Amino acid sequence: MSQGTETGRSDGARGDAAATPAAGVNFIRTIIESELAVDKFVQRRWSGRPGPGAQQLAGALDPARIRTRFPPEPNGYLHFGHAKSICLNFGLAQDYGGRCHLRFDDTNPEKEEQEYVDSIVDAVRWLGFSWQVDALDDTPGETNLYFASDYFAWMVAFAEHLIASGNAYVDSQSADEMRATRGTLTEPGQDSPFRTRSVEENMDLFKRMQRGEFADGTHVLRAKIDMASANINLRDPAIYRIRHASHHNTGERWCVYPMYTYAHPIEDALENITHSICTLEFADQRPFYDWLLERLAEGGLLQRPLPQQIEFSRLNLTYIVLSKRKLIQLVDEGHVGGWDDPRLPTLVGARRRGYPAEGFRLFAERVGVSRSESLIDYSLLEDCMREVLNASAERRVAVLDPLRLIIDNYPADAGEACSAPNHPQRPDLGTRALPFGRELWIEREDFMLQPSKGYHRLYPGNTVRLRYAYVVRCTSVELDADGAPSVVHCEYFPDSKSGTAGADAYKVKGNVHWVAVAGACAAEVRLYDRLFSVPSPGARRADDAPGSERDFRADLNPESRRVVHAQLEPALRTAQPEDRFQFERHGYFVADRVDSQPGAPVFNRTVTLRDSWAEKAAKAGNVAQAEKTAKAKVEKAAKTGAGG
Ligand code: ATP
Ligand code: MG
Repeated sequence: MSQGTETGRSDGARGDAAATPAAGVNFIRTIIESELAVDKFVQRRWSGRPGPGAQQLAGALDPARIRTRFPPEPNGYLHFGHAKSICLNFGLAQDYGGRCHLRFDDTNPEKEEQEYVDSIVDAVRWLGFSWQVDALDDTPGETNLYFASDYFAWMVAFAEHLIASGNAYVDSQSADEMRATRGTLTEPGQDSPFRTRSVEENMDLFKRMQRGEFADGTHVLRAKIDMASANINLRDPAIYRIRHASHHNTGERWCVYPMYTYAHPIEDALENITHSICTLEFADQRPFYDWLLERLAEGGLLQRPLPQQIEFSRLNLTYIVLSKRKLIQLVDEGHVGGWDDPRLPTLVGARRRGYPAEGFRLFAERVGVSRSESLIDYSLLEDCMREVLNASAERRVAVLDPLRLIIDNYPADAGEACSAPNHPQRPDLGTRALPFGRELWIEREDFMLQPSKGYHRLYPGNTVRLRYAYVVRCTSVELDADGAPSVVHCEYFPDSKSGTAGADAYKVKGNVHWVAVAGACAAEVRLYDRLFSVPSPGARRADDAPGSERDFRADLNPESRRVVHAQLEPALRTAQPEDRFQFERHGYFVADRVDSQPGAPVFNRTVTLRDSWAEKAAKAGNVAQAEKTAKAKVEKAAKTGAGG
C-alpha cells in the first residue's frame, strides 16, 4: 500500500502519472467521455421480459444518459468511505447530465432494518445529492430511489431462464461438500455429481424450492460455468439459496433468496445502469458479472449495451478505522457515545462534529479516483473542512479556560460596546457589538506569573491589547490556596481603544481575547480530537512482542474528548443547533444538534485552526509522517492556487 495522497489525476492502472490533465480528470471520466463521444448509450432501451408485478424501470424513456448508482446494504450507518462513493457516483451523474440511483441492496432477509434505510436517505441528502429529478428537467417527477427486493420476481424468472438454457443446475450437496470440491487457487475444483441433472429435473426442483418444500441448506441453484476455471468465482457460483425467513419488504412471499453476486448485475441491468462503479475487491467478480448479463442478453431478456462494472480503490484514512465490524465494536463496547458520536467516521457523527457536507465533496475531489491502493492522511480531510469553514463561518469570541481579570481603573457601573468584524475577509457579513466592562474573562494560558522566554501575553508589569478594545497593563495578581492565579488585576489606557485615533500610539506585542463577565454565556464545550493516537490503529509496533496481535482498541486516544466549561460572548446564546463558528484563536465549533437547548447551546469543536498533529508527529521523530503532511499541503496549495 503506498502512502500519500492520490492526486486524482492519473489512472493508477496505467500508471501515467507524468501526464497532468486538468483537475477532476480521472480514468472513469476518460471512459465515460469516450463512450459519450460515440453515442454508446443512445441505443439503450429496456426490453426485458416483464416478470410478475414488474413496473417500468428507469431509463426506458431517456436512453442517452449515463446512469450510476449508489447501492448500500441497509445494515449499518454510512461512513467516510461511503461518502467517497456517493460523491463519485452522484457527482459523475451531475457532471454528465445523467442520473444517479439510490438503491438499497436489501436482498438479504436477515440483516436489514428500516432505521438504517432512514439514516442512509438522510446522509445522502445531507451530502447535497438527490435521486429526485428536478421538476424543471426534461423528465419531471422521475424519482430514482429503488429497493433490490422489488426485483425478486425478475430474478427468479431470470434464474429459470438460466436453467432452461442449460446455464444453471440445482446442486444437492451439503455446504461442506461444496466447499471441499471447490478447489484452491492452484488446484481446479471437481464437478458436483448433480451437475448433469436434466433441465426438467432442475426446473422441477427449483420450482419446489420456491414453494417451500425443502429445508434451508438442502439445495442451492448454481450457475453452470467451469469448475476448473482459474478464477474461483467462476467455479459454478451459487446464485439462489433456500431461506425460510421473513423479509422487511416482501414478508413471507419468498423462501428462496438470490446471492449478492447474482442479484447485483441484474439490479444494475433492470435500472439501465451504464456504469456500475464499485471498490477493487469486486474486480475478481467482474467475469461473473459479465457472464451472467451476457447469458441473459443472449436469451433476449436484456438489451445491449449492458452495464459495465468499473472498480476503484477504496478510501483508507489514517487515525481512524472504516471497517463496519470495528465500528460496531466501538459503539457496542461504549468506547464512543453512539453511532453519531462526533469522533466516529460515520456521516451522522461527522454532521454532529460540524464537518460541512461541502468539505466532504471537496475532499472527494482532492483524493480523486484511481485503482491504486493508498492510505490518505487524515490531515487532508481536516484541511478540506478548515478550508470550507474558513470561508463560511462567522467569527466569535469564546474563553475556554476562564480566568478573571479586573480593570481597577475602569468605573464599576460603566460599560461600553466594542465593534468586532464577523469575518475578516468578508466585510459583507458586517460587525457586531462586544460588550466591554470592568470585569472580564481571559484564557488562563494568556497569563503567566513567571513568563517564559518569548512570552508576550500578560504577566506582572507587561502591557497587551485586549482584542477590539483597550491596551491594559498587568498591575498585580491574586493567587488561590494552591498558588494558582485566581484574579489578574490591570489598569487600562482610556485613549487606546481600537478603532480610535489614539490606538496607534500604543505598540504592544501581545493581543489577548476576552469576554465581559456581565452578560457572558456559560456553556459546555466539547473539545474533540482524533479517536486514535496512531496513524494505523491496530498495526503492530516495533516494541510489541514477536508474534503478538495488537488490538486496535489499545490505540484509542485518551484525549479524544475533553469537556470544558467555557464563557462565550453573549451573541452565542442564541446560536441554533448546527450553527458553525470560528472561535477566535481556538478553531471551528458547531452548536450540537442533539444537546443544545434554546438559549443554552452546547458546542463541539470541529477542528482546530492549525494541524497540531503534524507537529506532534515531527516531535515524536516521525519524520515520514510530517513530510507526508507537508507534501499533502503543497499539493493542495498547488491545486487551489493558494499561496500557503
Ligand atoms: P459490507 O462489508 O457490509 O459490504 P460496505 O462498507 O461495503 O460493507 P455497502 O453498503 O455494501 O457497505 O457499501 C455501499 C457502497 O459503498 C459500495 O458500492 C461500496 O463499494 C462503497 N464503499 C464502501 N466502503 C468504501 C470505502 N472505504 N471507500 C469507497 N467506497 C466504499
Ligand atoms: Mg459491501
